[in-house]
Amino acid sequence: MPLFFDTPVQFIKGVGPHIAGLLARKNISTVEDLLHFFPRAYEDRRAARNISSLQAGEIVSLVATVVRHTSVPMGRSSRRIHDVLLKDESGFVHCKFFRVPFKGYFDKFEPGTAVRVVGKVTEYRGKIEFHHPDMMEWTEDENENEDELRPIYEETEGLSSRKIQKVIQSVIDQVEIPETLPVSLIREQELPDRKTSFKKLHSPPNDSTREFMEFQSPYHRRMIFEEFFWLEFFLARRKAGVAKEKGPDIEFDLALANRFQKNLPFELTADQQKVFGEICDDLKQPHPMNRLVQGDVGSGKTVVAQMTAAIVIAGEHQVALMAPTEILAEQHFKNSEKVFEALGIKVTLLLGSHSAREKKERLALINSGEAQLVIGTHALIQEGVDFKKLGLIIIDEQHRFGVSQRKMLSLKAGKISPHVLIMTATPIPRTLALTVYGDLDVSVIRELPKGRAPIDTRVVYESKREAVMGFFRQKIREGGQGYIIFPLVEESEKIDLKDALQAFETLPKLYPEIRFGLLHGRMKSEEKDATMERFRKHELDVLVSTTVIEVGVDVANATLMMVEHSERFGLSQLHQLRGRVGRGSKKSYCVLMMGKSVSDESRARLRIMEKTTSGFDVAEEDLKIRGPGELLGQRQSGLLGFRIANLIRDVELLTLARSMAFKIVENDGALKSPENKNLKEHLTRSKQFDLGGIG
Ligand code: ADP
Ligand code: MG
Repeated sequence: MPLFFDTPVQFIKGVGPHIAGLLARKNISTVEDLLHFFPRAYEDRRAARNISSLQAGEIVSLVATVVRHTSVPMGRSSRRIHDVLLKDESGFVHCKFFRVPFKGYFDKFEPGTAVRVVGKVTEYRGKIEFHHPDMMEWTEDENENEDELRPIYEETEGLSSRKIQKVIQSVIDQVEIPETLPVSLIREQELPDRKTSFKKLHSPPNDSTREFMEFQSPYHRRMIFEEFFWLEFFLARRKAGVAKEKGPDIEFDLALANRFQKNLPFELTADQQKVFGEICDDLKQPHPMNRLVQGDVGSGKTVVAQMTAAIVIAGEHQVALMAPTEILAEQHFKNSEKVFEALGIKVTLLLGSHSAREKKERLALINSGEAQLVIGTHALIQEGVDFKKLGLIIIDEQHRFGVSQRKMLSLKAGKISPHVLIMTATPIPRTLALTVYGDLDVSVIRELPKGRAPIDTRVVYESKREAVMGFFRQKIREGGQGYIIFPLVEESEKIDLKDALQAFETLPKLYPEIRFGLLHGRMKSEEKDATMERFRKHELDVLVSTTVIEVGVDVANATLMMVEHSERFGLSQLHQLRGRVGRGSKKSYCVLMMGKSVSDESRARLRIMEKTTSGFDVAEEDLKIRGPGELLGQRQSGLLGFRIANLIRDVELLTLARSMAFKIVENDGALKSPENKNLKEHLTRSKQFDLGGIG
């Protein structure tokens, strides 16, 4: 039976329903999926090594014996670090795993077991070790005459790397592998053809160099390029599609926005003006705006959004502003109500926690069009919310929302797509700006308003808490205010709540002159609101809070922040939190508390916060440490689902693929030219490239 890309794997010789089931767990159901299941690494049997000769940075293959397997908890969380100690005649080496590859994975590695380890040698505290290597049982009688370079595939329970290799080898020569990229492009970029590339990746040539082992061979580059190319191609198409769509019919009039601006107690910064100018240019176009405004915490994105709203409202359309938390929505509401009602504009707030009666009233206002500016949380995208004439959607703190939510809100607008303005303080690392957000126009506010004193950040051991509190006390006596933040541990709100509640009990006893308030996610909306209000009015000095204040909260007089168990936060999250202070002209302080048992790595990571107050630097570091998945949120990264490309390693290919893809879409969007025949045929063949939820 001939094999095609879409042949289901169970029809491959040697693959029965059982193996097909195991492959399905890796999302492999067709021959195409199988060939796209690329090796994670290569085992180099030409350079059999012993432990004492290992050098940091090398990718090596090693045969050794298991001494023991241990696991220790990671901080206070439920996760554990697994450590397999190996030895050979020359020495010992640790293999560390920060997550378990699959259930029962370590059962195979009983003391005394001979294993082959393939992975990158890492240096940690002056010692050599492996992090997440590929580890397989090894038997003496393995045929030593076989290929010297062997692909290593990610194993699952019951399916070894060797088995996967055998299945792939059994099909690769029989299956038709069509070219997908334009011949001219391949030639111009000196890329090998697709068929050869697939073969080389799965059957590494024996003379392969280090370049090959590190996924930088022309064959690897070709497949990585291709993967990026198709993503960018679809982003380009969608961007072009939006560019053709008709936008809301808004007569461009700056009068109201100008009146709004005159009432501001400050001048706009040059960057705010520049970004507002870019937005105005968008609004003058006949098609919808799709713009992301990125500005570090405190850079003043809100006024820019409000001025945009003023234009759209003057143009007789409604504006929806969606914020990720009730506290932030309330804050936007209060602030907007104050400035807009003075201009005769009706502002409404819609929250999930509103009573049925309140909701009904507000929904009626939204539906009749009487509510011109509607502010809310996720409640805005729920059923029953019908706008009369929605012209602009503003999404604050985009990183907190899934992309699908952005889509749902724009569906609320009916047939005509509204303008969309997205605001984020999370600097988008370049790679992500080219991928996930690749269909948006991006504006950046770089400068902070004048007169902001830099935040002094210190990483401090818990044992110094009293000294820190002494300092805070002094500042509070001088009229300062601040926050004490407790982390949210792995989504379980219980623990952080307990810590926060406890602190709220004990602190007032220790410091009776300080007026403490408590804020957490389990409180009723009105309670949260009342507490925020008292804090704003300076009837409270210190808010003991969970991360509910993480985003957006703006109280200029707050200059002190203490983050408990800061090692449990991601750096970007710490940066967001820190952004709650340093919003006025007074000098601010941020103290990151860490427990005694914090690892050197965690401490080094936290120190980055001392060195920089730039959200961009923080995000880049975070990306390096945690990988793009976590920054993106699970859903988005899953959808990106790269099979060989790596957003950090391959940025340069990403940039190249993007410019090629955009050029092709611009010149020949319908793929009519014979030049683009391969592209067109590939599109016709595969339906998988419906971008799904990426954008
Ligand atoms: P973010 O960009 O983090 O959302 P905000 O929009 O909340 O920041 O602005 C932070 C604070 O700075 C607010 O109190 C706002 O009124 C103030 N602000 C905004 N623009 C300026 C400016 N040009 N000059 C002085 N203060 C400003
Ligand atoms: Mg904000």
